[in-house]
Amino acid sequence: PMSLSDPVKPHRICVCVRKRPLNKKELAKKEIDVVTIPGNGALLLHEPKQKVDLTKYLENQTFHFDYSFDEDATNDLVYRFTAKPLVKTIFEGGMATCFAYGQTGSGKTHTMGGDFSGKSQNSSKGIYALAAQDVFTLLRQKRYADMDLCPYVTFFEIYNGKVFDLLNKKAKLRVLEDEKQQVNVVGLQEVPVSSVDDVIKMIERGSACRTSGQTFANASSSRSHAVLQVILRRRNFLHGKFSLVDLAGNERGTDISNNDRHTIVETAEINRSLLALKECIRSLGQNSEHIPFRMSKLTQVLRDSFIGENSRTCMIAMISPGMSSCEYTLNTLRYANSGF
Ligand code: ADP
Ligand code: MG
Repeated sequence: PMSLSDPVKPHRICVCVRKRPLNKKELAKKEIDVVTIPGNGALLLHEPKQKVDLTKYLENQTFHFDYSFDEDATNDLVYRFTAKPLVKTIFEGGMATCFAYGQTGSGKTHTMGGDFSGKSQNSSKGIYALAAQDVFTLLRQKRYADMDLCPYVTFFEIYNGKVFDLLNKKAKLRVLEDEKQQVNVVGLQEVPVSSVDDVIKMIERGSACRTSGQTFANASSSRSHAVLQVILRRRNFLHGKFSLVDLAGNERGTDISNNDRHTIVETAEINRSLLALKECIRSLGQNSEHIPFRMSKLTQVLRDSFIGENSRTCMIAMISPGMSSCEYTLNTLRYANSGF
């Protein structure tokens, strides 16, 4: 069983996995749980324990991660071992990035705390708000209070390779790169915040913008990446940036049932960006000179995250435990296990 003491000093890249519980609908359908978290960072994908009439589909497979969280883990616990160790990074002038990865319905938005549908959880207790809380705690600490650091928030969405400002009515924004390869999202609202409540208001506003309206907008939220950033500026200069990224569902790559043109273009873009992300995180881990950040809009706008001595990244791979998700689950586990 996992120790509840604080984690050790973070390494540059931390990869974790979180299994959600079977939901009511799945239980009603007698969905079988094929994922077991035995502890010590391991995850076991296994044959159903009950006898079911299926041809041999799964080999028992064990995957290893820095941490693995089972269905009883709270957002608080997940936060403590993933994003929390990264908060200090932005005070020390670095870039911190936390990704929620996985198929639609696996718990990305639940974990990040961007679920404002009201019933499932108190959304102020997701990683977004927990990180914001710690940022304000550190801002008041003596060693940082004299540094003149000012906190700001941005919240935007990347859909089909285009950037939309969630804090400004989904305005479509241009991304420009200067001769020093600095990437600038032109016109992105950077809202000054002075309390956790301010940040939560922005998360609420942006989340509503992300999912409100017609069915199309709703559906598109699972096909877009949402990026919340907490930025520290010192006399207007960028000091540190924490990017919290709720990635697009990764299931599209294997979904061949829907092959209209729009879906194909969308799928290609999601695949490209998730592949680019993998490559960029790997480059960060290897301290590589060459970071292929131009491979996608996602990695381009997150360019800062992949450079510099003091950059840290954490990926949380979300897992749906059901038998019927196991193909997607395998994809997720392979991606997260691809040797960052
Ligand atoms: P995603 O953003 O990956 O598509 P969601 O975060 O929207 O998935 O989760 C789908 C549903 O499952 C939501 O109703 C959410 O509240 C629920 N859920 C996800 N993870 C958990 C968890 N760890 N514990 C309880 N419910 C969860
Ligand atoms: Mg979601």
